[in-house]
Amino acid sequence: MTKAEGNTHADAVLKAETRVTIGGRNPHAHHGYVNPPVYHASTVLYRTAEDYLASNGPYFYGRLGTPTSEALEKAIQSVEGPECAAVALLPSGLAAISTALLSVLKSGDHVLATDSIYGPGRTFCDTMLQRYGVTTSYYNPLIGSGIAALMQPNTRAVYTEAPGSLTFEMQDIPAIAEAAHSNNALVLMDNTWAGPLHFKALEKGVDLSIQSGSKYIGGHCDVMLGTVSANKETAQRLKDTVFTMGLCVGPDDMNLALRGLRTLAVRLRQHHQSGLKVAEWLAQRPEVLRVLHPALPGAPGYDIWKRDFTGACGLFGIILKPVPEKAVFAFLNALTLYGLGASWGGYESLAIPYGVTGYRSATQWSPGGPAVRFHIGLEDAGDLIADLERGFAALAVAK
Ligand SMILES: *Cc1c(COP(=O)(O)O)cnc(C)c1O
Repeated sequence: MTKAEGNTHADAVLKAETRVTIGGRNPHAHHGYVNPPVYHASTVLYRTAEDYLASNGPYFYGRLGTPTSEALEKAIQSVEGPECAAVALLPSGLAAISTALLSVLKSGDHVLATDSIYGPGRTFCDTMLQRYGVTTSYYNPLIGSGIAALMQPNTRAVYTEAPGSLTFEMQDIPAIAEAAHSNNALVLMDNTWAGPLHFKALEKGVDLSIQSGSKYIGGHCDVMLGTVSANKETAQRLKDTVFTMGLCVGPDDMNLALRGLRTLAVRLRQHHQSGLKVAEWLAQRPEVLRVLHPALPGAPGYDIWKRDFTGACGLFGIILKPVPEKAVFAFLNALTLYGLGASWGGYESLAIPYGVTGYRSATQWSPGGPAVRFHIGLEDAGDLIADLERGFAALAVAK
């Protein structure tokens, strides 16, 4: 490796926080500039007919890869660590979910998916996969090694997400992976919450690790992106699927993602720290029944988080003591520093009401009161807490 080339997982001895800043860089291939250029590209020209027919060169066609896509793929691969054999870039996190599933399934197969799966992922399983002859059944996210009892002869994939992005159940990924592998099934995981910096999915037995890059990799609410990281077992199937389906990402979005990635470690540290501070404060409030934050000591899933994860992000939920819906809305509408909107992972805070009625099938989720999900951004945590006090004052008036 030459100076500042820091290109792949070959440098896995370095800390992930270092790899996130140097992965995928090759300045001297670009006149010394720190960042790779943004290639807006379709056609690649060859000097001779012979070269063209032999595809003699590193690139062949825009859809199949450019120095821009290569830089982002290598950077993510470097953060994932030595188990990562390939990274695919997809136009959204949902596209990453569907592509990962399509990579390893065929007609007649069966999937076991966690009941806490990201909602649109569930729709994909229940409609498209179903239509192509793949059946899905859902399991209790807390099942752990008990998954072995649910395996059918044709179960080829076990889909996990930890924690669930609405209900925050922590899954015992190593136990599930062991049971799946001994039954000849692959393990897929939606690792958007912790990402590879804080949960080494591939090292813990996951075969295909999915991220919505629209969340923390982008980090600024201005890009849609998905990524799938594969181990040796699944890399070729992933690459073939992306190639065959013609999936690729626009160059400017890849560039924004690469720019976001460079500051991921430091942003996540702040999201984690401020998130915990706000969660701890909320846990003491008389209006709050429970806090759903796996990195909060005593909260559900804390033991698994402590054992398997090295950090958290800014996303968690709370369950309020029962109050009329209008009081919950008054609370949310009184907040000035929290936006009301889907998604998360940007620099700004969000708060949304949510329910999961109607979309669970293996388990009931009866939280005992109204649920609110927070994303804690990079604002001052004290300001965010003061804003919540205003919200609770409005809630008291409205109830
Ligand atoms: C947002 C999200 C997705 C989907 O990502 P998009 O980029 O919005 O398509 C998938 N999984 C989880 C856990 C998410 O929060």
